[in-house]
Formats: sequence, structure tokens, C-alpha cells
Amino acid sequence: MNPIAKTLMLTTQCSALCSHCPFSDPSLKRIELTLDQVLFKLENAQEDLVVLSGGEVFEYTQLPKLLQELQSKNKKRLRIATGNFIPLKNHLQILKHLPHFEGLSLGTDTLIKFEAIWFKNMSSIQDYGIPYSLTFTLLKNIRFPLEDVLSRLSRLNLNPQFIYLRSDSLTDETLIQQTQKVKDFFANFTIIEDHLNHS
Ligand code: SF4
Repeated sequence: MNPIAKTLMLTTQCSALCSHCPFSDPSLKRIELTLDQVLFKLENAQEDLVVLSGGEVFEYTQLPKLLQELQSKNKKRLRIATGNFIPLKNHLQILKHLPHFEGLSLGTDTLIKFEAIWFKNMSSIQDYGIPYSLTFTLLKNIRFPLEDVLSRLSRLNLNPQFIYLRSDSLTDETLIQQTQKVKDFFANFTIIEDHLNHS
């Protein structure tokens, strides 16, 4: 069994339109995997853990059917990555009982633009006892409003499984400082760092 996680992109659709994101490019062709394709890829993944991703997973048109199928068929450890800008409450009951579901990976890129929904989702996620991690993506040429995001997060009683901290430069001074701020803010939690490239 391959211990590395497999990312399965269900759709290129995402309506959040984060300025830095390739999924916001209007010229991007909108494509979705079929339900059968997703089930086949899941069943045949060699990796121990599969992360369902997009675009935005909760804009994948076959998601209700997929979750229904996975209730009885899923044998893989699963996570779902989401921008957390779509109301999730209607999905949480089924996620809570999904076999081998390990949690939501919540993007923070959307927190400022979709603050009300983001906060409401967090409250529902915590009420349902669904495990979650938080993802920070820090890019050299795109300003991430880290202070504002951390200030909003400080209002919540957070208990993430881990912090996924992605950055595209090990040498850019601003990113080094931002990375350290995230680490300081989440000093009591596991940080998983991912360097998108090493420029
Ligand atoms: S929510 Fe995520 S996938 Fe959607 S535009 Fe923003 S960064 Fe991209």
C-alpha cells in the first residue's frame, strides 16, 4: 500500500473566484468526473488515503449520489478538501456516518470574502463533531491577508486535526514571516508544511 495521499479532482468548477487560484480562470474548461469514474478511481487507488478535491467538491453535481454510494461501498480512508464557502450543514449528517471518512480540509483563502458562511460552517462542523484541518496557501506574488484571517480565527475555539501550510518560496522574507506567524498562532497543533517549489 502506498502511504502517500492521492488527490482526486472531481470538478474544475469553483465559484469562489479567489484571485490567485487557477480554478478562477474564466478560460478554464469546466469538467467533472462522472460518478462511475470517481468510484472506479477510488476503488483502484493504490494510496492509503484519498483526498476528494476540486475546484470545489461541494459544487460537484454528482456529490449527493456519490456520498450515497460511498455510504455502503467506501473502503478507503477519505478526506474532503473544500473552500468552505458553501453552506455545508445539509451534508454533515451523511459525512458524520461515512465509513472511513477522516475529515474536512478547510481552505482559509475564502474566509474574508465569505466570512458569515465560513463561520456558520465551522459552528456546524464542530456541533456535528466532524474532524477538520485548516489549509493556508502562501504565495510569493499574491498577498494573503494573514493578519485579518488570524484575527478572525482568534474569535473561534478551534481544534483542528492539523494545519496544512503550503508555500511557494523558502527564501521570500514576507512568506518566511507569514509562515512563522501561522506556526506561532497554532503552536499547540501539528503543522504539516508543503513547499510547492523551492525558489
Ligand atoms: S475556494 Fe479554493 S478552489 Fe475555489 S477559487 Fe478559492 S482557492 Fe480556488
